Amino acid sequence: MNDIKNHLSELNFFIEKYGTSINKEAIIKEDILRLGISFEDILSKENFSSKSYFIFSFNVDNDGDVINKKFPEEIALENGPYNLRRTVLSVRINKSSPYKVKFDSESGAHKLFLGENFIAGVSFSPEKSYMLKKTESGKSVRDVAPTIEWGYLIYLAVFRMCQYFDNNTECLFCDMNSNYLIQKKANKNYSAVKSVADIIESLKIIESSEDSEAGAYTLTGGSIIDDIKFKGDTEVDFYVRFIEAIEENFQGKWISKVVVQAHTAKNLKRLKDAGAYIYHTNFEVWDKNLFEKICPGKSKFIGRDEWIKRIVDAVAVFGEYKVIPNFVAGIELCKPYGFSDVNAAVCSTAEGLEFFMSKGVIPRYTTWCPEKTSGLGKLGNSSAPLEYYVKLLLKWHELHYKYNLPIPEGYGAAGAGRAEFSVSAFMDAFKVATSQNL
Ligand code: SF4
Repeated sequence: MNDIKNHLSELNFFIEKYGTSINKEAIIKEDILRLGISFEDILSKENFSSKSYFIFSFNVDNDGDVINKKFPEEIALENGPYNLRRTVLSVRINKSSPYKVKFDSESGAHKLFLGENFIAGVSFSPEKSYMLKKTESGKSVRDVAPTIEWGYLIYLAVFRMCQYFDNNTECLFCDMNSNYLIQKKANKNYSAVKSVADIIESLKIIESSEDSEAGAYTLTGGSIIDDIKFKGDTEVDFYVRFIEAIEENFQGKWISKVVVQAHTAKNLKRLKDAGAYIYHTNFEVWDKNLFEKICPGKSKFIGRDEWIKRIVDAVAVFGEYKVIPNFVAGIELCKPYGFSDVNAAVCSTAEGLEFFMSKGVIPRYTTWCPEKTSGLGKLGNSSAPLEYYVKLLLKWHELHYKYNLPIPEGYGAAGAGRAEFSVSAFMDAFKVATSQNL
């Protein structure tokens, strides 16, 4: 009880202190993302877009209890005592989260509570007409080409096993391969490797659906180590085939974003020539020691200095502001390797953000979900504190403003009440004039 009271006071303290700089929606969103959420009611009868486990589990708890139930991919918060503008966030199941969604039979609506304190009204990500359709091979569009960010982003994870796991060098925050094995047990159609034919067929279904609101696609998957290869393909051989086919069939229909390892300019040119528009090569954590500890595969097979160099060199291939490496915000505070002090963690990441931003790169971040099946989860980690996320939001926007950078492309709308990017609040925290907040 006292824990909840203190938690609510802390949340209100940050909203009061920083709510005008980064808005209350962004602060509440970060708090829920870092802690996850639980649901009180059985949801299986309701019509909504359910979690597709599109790449990682993004669940703190990932046992049979969770996997065999239907939960929404995303929720949107609105109104309530904080008078929230619509705030979209990814659902991360944590059975012991202080945040709980309950069904209120009186109003016939779902509501979010922190302990017993009402926070906001809740709606679930809508089921799109294309989700349940199937390709000729019998795969559902939800599995082959799910949409997230309230339908804005088509998420094409075409290789859901990362070769770093085979070498015991996986990133310690990542549960990709264990998620695959767990999902495969629950759903025999869950595939590790998708075919170009299924992808194209699914995209045709999406393209012709009246309720599609997709504006971008992400092509991604686990790393393929070039010395090892996958069925004779290097990483670029493998992913280029998908981009070529997509762009040949739907040229320019959606913004194309590709997430792969850090590659040499020659390889990047192949991706660019095939039709990749935005290049994401995720850096995860800035501090040198932490990078080596937390990302042993990236360190071993490419190396931190080379990874940084390739990110910067990629600007010459893709253009300014079209290279967008991701950080997993919060892992700088992980046990036993990380900083013990929030300010030191923010300061370290800010150094990396500033380095990249000063070079025409726009780094962004996702809020760490400490899945129990990841390496860091097995070491007993739980989330980083809210103070860290508030300070990081402030710092990211301060630096973004300092370097006069544009709002990154491929992330949908920006600003409170409009943002759809669901795994961190950096897009919500933009000050963008809307009819609601003018
Ligand atoms: S590169 Fe790291 S984060 Fe990406 S899938 Fe492999 S282990 Fe996971």
